[in-house]
Amino acid sequence: MNDNTTATHTPPDWTVIGTRECPHCGRALDVRRIDVAGRTIESVETCPDCEAERDLRATRLAVQCRIQETRDRCGAHYASIYASAGFARYRIEDRNRRAFEASRALVDSMVDRSLGGPRLLLLYGPAAAGKTLLAYAALNTAMRRGVRGAVVRAVSLVEAYADERFRRWLLAWPRLLLIDDAGKEDLGGYLREDYQAALFEIVDRYYAAPGRGLIVTTELPLGRLLARYPDIRDALRWRMREMSAGGAAIRIGGRP
Ligand SMILES: [Zn+2]
Repeated sequence: MNDNTTATHTPPDWTVIGTRECPHCGRALDVRRIDVAGRTIESVETCPDCEAERDLRATRLAVQCRIQETRDRCGAHYASIYASAGFARYRIEDRNRRAFEASRALVDSMVDRSLGGPRLLLLYGPAAAGKTLLAYAALNTAMRRGVRGAVVRAVSLVEAYADERFRRWLLAWPRLLLIDDAGKEDLGGYLREDYQAALFEIVDRYYAAPGRGLIVTTELPLGRLLARYPDIRDALRWRMREMSAGGAAIRIGGRP
């Protein structure tokens, strides 16, 4: 869905504070800064020229080991019902048809970047609506087709994210990331500011990099979900509106 034809992938709410040469090819990359949730985040944009090469290198890593590490650190419960989830076994009804089609289009876009389908998908619906099953069907299908996938539970995100090594890995390694059950994080007593800054950084990074996908599941409709993150609401809405424009903000299940 990224039809941005400029050289940079820096969204407009970042301030570009300089440039840095890519250590591999010398291309000038934006160094950018944003103040969000009481924290200043600085990052260098991903080098589009070297991205493919980095992909190849990362694929040679012990893929299964890394995925296991994500599960361990983020408490991602990969129950057998989810491990075997796939599109073929998903029961399609009128209420979830759009979500199903969007999920399948997202996986196709992960495998073939030229398709330009939705890349950031918000799956929302009440408990037991099947949104997590659908998200795992997408993740499993993508992984079987060679896409590096990872899953984190929203309630465990901040704790894991505080580990700098894990943070860097989460921002760089997965091509498709599933954040399961967003909107309930403060029930675990985590610091909301930290959570918001972490969530913003992840959404922004996945939004800005072509060829990467993000699926967020939540029981909250978009307005209520954003209300949980007051410090980053506008920054998220800017990106989530882009998701809607691509037909990717999907409600499944019963009433919102
Ligand atoms: Zn480069």
